[in-house]
Amino acid sequence: MTQKKIAILGAGPSGLAQLRAFEAAHRAGVKNLPEIVCYEKQNDIGGMWNYTWRTGLDRNGEPVHGSMYRYLWSNGPKECLEFADYSFDEHFDRPIPSYPPREVLKDYIMGRIDKRAIFNYIRFECPARWVTYDDQTEKFTVTVMNHKTGDQESEEFDYVVVATGHFSTPNMPYYEGLEQFPGRVMHAHDFRDALEFEGQDVLLVGGSFSAEDIGTQCYKYGANSVTISYRTNPLGFEWPEGIEERPLLTHLEGNVAYFNDGSHKAYDAIIMCTGYLFHFPFLPDELRLQTHNCLYPDNLYKGVFFQDNPKLIYLGMQDQYFTFNMFDAQAWYVRDVILGKIQLPDAQDRGKDIQSWLQRQEQLHTPNECIDYQASYVRDLINATDYPDFPIEKQAELLKQWLLDKKENIMEFRNKSYRSTITGTMAAELPKPWLAIKDDSLEGFMSLKFIEAKA
Ligand code: FAD
Ligand code: NAP
Ligand code: MG
Repeated sequence: MTQKKIAILGAGPSGLAQLRAFEAAHRAGVKNLPEIVCYEKQNDIGGMWNYTWRTGLDRNGEPVHGSMYRYLWSNGPKECLEFADYSFDEHFDRPIPSYPPREVLKDYIMGRIDKRAIFNYIRFECPARWVTYDDQTEKFTVTVMNHKTGDQESEEFDYVVVATGHFSTPNMPYYEGLEQFPGRVMHAHDFRDALEFEGQDVLLVGGSFSAEDIGTQCYKYGANSVTISYRTNPLGFEWPEGIEERPLLTHLEGNVAYFNDGSHKAYDAIIMCTGYLFHFPFLPDELRLQTHNCLYPDNLYKGVFFQDNPKLIYLGMQDQYFTFNMFDAQAWYVRDVILGKIQLPDAQDRGKDIQSWLQRQEQLHTPNECIDYQASYVRDLINATDYPDFPIEKQAELLKQWLLDKKENIMEFRNKSYRSTITGTMAAELPKPWLAIKDDSLEGFMSLKFIEAKA
């Protein structure tokens, strides 16, 4: 049997999960593992979790991937994204609070990676430029720009795993009068530091996680006022004085924004929190996933195998209640298909399976139903592999509690603690409220005197 060859595009949490899945098989003594090459656009692993001060283009002239900003804290409890094969206790040696800042979570994600082993597979500063598939040879050709050598390189592969993320290319709407607006107009993708908006009246357009989090950030770091303008539904929290919601922006006249309830207000800056486009400029039409941000993108069997060519695999393309543990579940399943441990059904049966998930997706009405749906998707995957079993259903209950905690107080939910479903450890408590902790560094966070939960 000849050795198979796999290209992984992207070394963020999803791409790393795929590398880790094969590493786990290697450690378990599985023979004849495929040869792996992972191409990464940035010069480090970590994907979205790498903070960059850059916006626009990176030092190689490639679009900046990062959408994260200073002072970003986890927006969900860490107990709902814990790896089943590497717990927070194992990484930090003591209980930490449920909502860590970015650098702390990144430290955890990277902690289980054996860098010496995994870095051998990764070619940094090598953005994928183009992928083709040859029906005759049944191989993909992946062409990348190697910015380290200045040359384009092409190699053939049996499988391609696309793990390039989908929260990087701004969806930027137009409103009449924007070109005359005298202040800053930007997308959430380019937001880096809330202090820039200290003392300002800021308008955020969009009604989802970015609007909610950038709004509370701006409040925390001293904006004069924050208005969140929603298209479909308001976020509906009880906001503190200084944050308000209004229906959709209709147009601007000078620095004054008009909303479709007839109201208007003057602003210093506008931040479009209007989500992201699925953007795969390196894929031809016949291989390109076309979807929007949803829990079950069409044409992906088990949420990962491209229906028209299941040797093309997409990781992490779902809207995400679950993140790292879901990427693991996907990566282990993909590994076992590539290793021949799991047989893929024929196209017709794959299509039927996809349809049943799409039909169930259409029946989802409440956030709780969405959480259960994604949990059942993850359950379906982990049941089929040797990924350590973990109670995803209990994590789903934690997420429902998280929704209630946010509803109770959107400015205080990050003070709450939850129990790990992996180790049973109760998270520690922050020594002071999240709103009062302005330092988000790993060192600053770990030097806080956490309050340990009573047994
Ligand atoms: P990414 O992390 O986006 O990684 C994709 C990788 O692919 C990157 O390294 C990129 O450089 C690389 N790449 C892109 N194009 C190419 C190319 N052409 N060739 C080669 N490499 C390429 N999740 C949570 O669990 N908790 C949170 O608190 C949280 N906060 C978030 C905050 C923001 C502002 C955003 C945008 C997302 C947040 N997320 C959060 C979700 C986040 O997307 C996931 O946690 C996770 O990073 C997704 O992993 P990924 O590997 O699929 O994609
Ligand atoms: P999103 O969840 O896809 O939401 C996009 C929002 O933009 C929706 O509310 C949508 O409104 C609105 N929208 C789209 N087009 C619009 C238009 N033309 N005019 C007005 N509104 C428009 O994207 P996101 O909020 O950027 O979140 C992306 C990811 O980042 C999520 O996974 C989230 O968890 C993560 N995130 C995490 C944190 C953190 O604290 N750790 C912070 C920010 C983001 P409709 O509802 O009308 O469609
Ligand atoms: Mg199992």
